Amino acid sequence: MIDTHCHIDFEDFDDDRDEVIKRAKDKLDNVIVSGYSNDSNMDVLKLSKDYEGFIYPTFGFHPVSSQNATDDEIKTAHENIVEHLDDIVAIGEVGMDYFYVTDNSLRKRQQKIFTGFLELANEYKKPIVMHVRDCEKKAVNIIYEYEDIPYFVFHCYGGSLKTAKRIMNMDNAYMSFSTMLCYSKQHQDLIEKIDLDYILTETDSPYLAMTKEERNEPANVVNAVYKIAEIKNMDIGTVDEITTSNACNIFKI
Ligand SMILES: [Zn+2]
Repeated sequence: MIDTHCHIDFEDFDDDRDEVIKRAKDKLDNVIVSGYSNDSNMDVLKLSKDYEGFIYPTFGFHPVSSQNATDDEIKTAHENIVEHLDDIVAIGEVGMDYFYVTDNSLRKRQQKIFTGFLELANEYKKPIVMHVRDCEKKAVNIIYEYEDIPYFVFHCYGGSLKTAKRIMNMDNAYMSFSTMLCYSKQHQDLIEKIDLDYILTETDSPYLAMTKEERNEPANVVNAVYKIAEIKNMDIGTVDEITTSNACNIFKI
């Protein structure tokens, strides 16, 4: 079982990060921690060195903050990715967020930065982990252009079933589902129709816990796997096996 997307470098975990990771180790094979800023990229790299073989890092720049990022900051993000190509298992999280970013010119800026990361992933043949919210169809149209990106991951997918079908048709694109599955009817309906071969599991910790007050943590990815098994009427072992093997194949871990 793998938590393919979380942020345990957040300060929310400063007091008990080791215990959180220990609880994850008891239940999971691996954890992928996604960088979201230049500082965070360095923090997730350090975490992956401290827990070598268990934690793997990805370097990115969160789309919501990318709208206001300077060219220099983005340039640094690109340079860090190139410098650490062998350390990171993917580029991300990067993407587009139309829920939080509503201004048209800022959306354009966000898209330009996103395509910059796509070009990098294409050039260096790295998988890409995307945060896409309320513009999934547009994102699919954009990523079609990049033939040399080995794998695309829509982290915490919440788009339409129609777009999900287009994603499945790409054959090298995946949708990741979080612990949100336990309470989101929209995500439950999607899981029913999406083939397990295109599904990954994640927590997005510290976000997306069962209740708003709670802090999520990687060990809770178990709940997402259980829910998928329940919805698809399959046994937990099979869901675990297929989703884990999808992740191992994408991230080469
Ligand atoms: Zn995230």
